[in-house]
Amino acid sequence: MSKPCILCCAITGSVPTKADNPAVPTTVSEQIESSHAAVEAGASIIHAHVRNGDETPSSDPEKFALLKEGLEKHCPGVIIQFSTGGRSGAGQARGGMLPLRPDMASLSVGSNNFPTRVYENPPELISWLSSEMQAHEITPEIEAFDLSHILQAIRHHKAGTLYGQLYVQFVMGVKNAMPVDREVFEFYVKIMQERAPKAEWCAAGIGAAQITVNEWAIAAGGHTRAGLEDNVRLDRNTLAPSNAALITRAAELCEKYERPVATPAQAREILGLRAAT
Ligand SMILES: [Zn+2]
Repeated sequence: MSKPCILCCAITGSVPTKADNPAVPTTVSEQIESSHAAVEAGASIIHAHVRNGDETPSSDPEKFALLKEGLEKHCPGVIIQFSTGGRSGAGQARGGMLPLRPDMASLSVGSNNFPTRVYENPPELISWLSSEMQAHEITPEIEAFDLSHILQAIRHHKAGTLYGQLYVQFVMGVKNAMPVDREVFEFYVKIMQERAPKAEWCAAGIGAAQITVNEWAIAAGGHTRAGLEDNVRLDRNTLAPSNAALITRAAELCEKYERPVATPAQAREILGLRAAT
């Protein structure tokens, strides 16, 4: 039996709104309901941002606390991963929810361009976020928007500044950052295998490339992410009806490549996370 594949559902993000797709969950109760359906469809990690009442991005720890409480109640055992990404806040506000001790949090270890701005991750902020994650026993998921981010993640892990097991996500297809490129993807996988053979990796594609990158990652033995944060459509003419629909597509690819879909308990074991409380 081949290694189970961990499916992460990026439920909301900080960019898409209900005007883009009415299925984007933007209130905490919608997020919990959408997560529940995604978990039923095979997701074992819920990657979450929170929003204000007007759908703008928020970094309010109280909203994250409500979301965590709801996920623990309605999706028992699921891995809760909060975003410390730069669209939801600035500076240390990006990590203001870390004392809530989610299982995981996203962490960027370098800067790059986003569609309309610079995604700034200065060294002192990276080291502050890493140390907060260590203090609260939170395993980071490294968001690699560029090759240098993968190499930096491996360096930080070897230096002992990252809590837990190394887990790197290749993000491909963000405008002005690394495009969706098969050769680059294969090189990323090779770098991980050669330089961090004990680490796990996953991959996410933005927009129409979500399904492409899902397939590459599943076929190559990695893990993968789907969800409305990264892509709101099933195809050019069809909006995705839910986060669960995008996870179902990824789960069908797992079947095609004979990869069992990891349960939350299996995903915790693969990623070296503590058992669910
Ligand atoms: Zn995110």
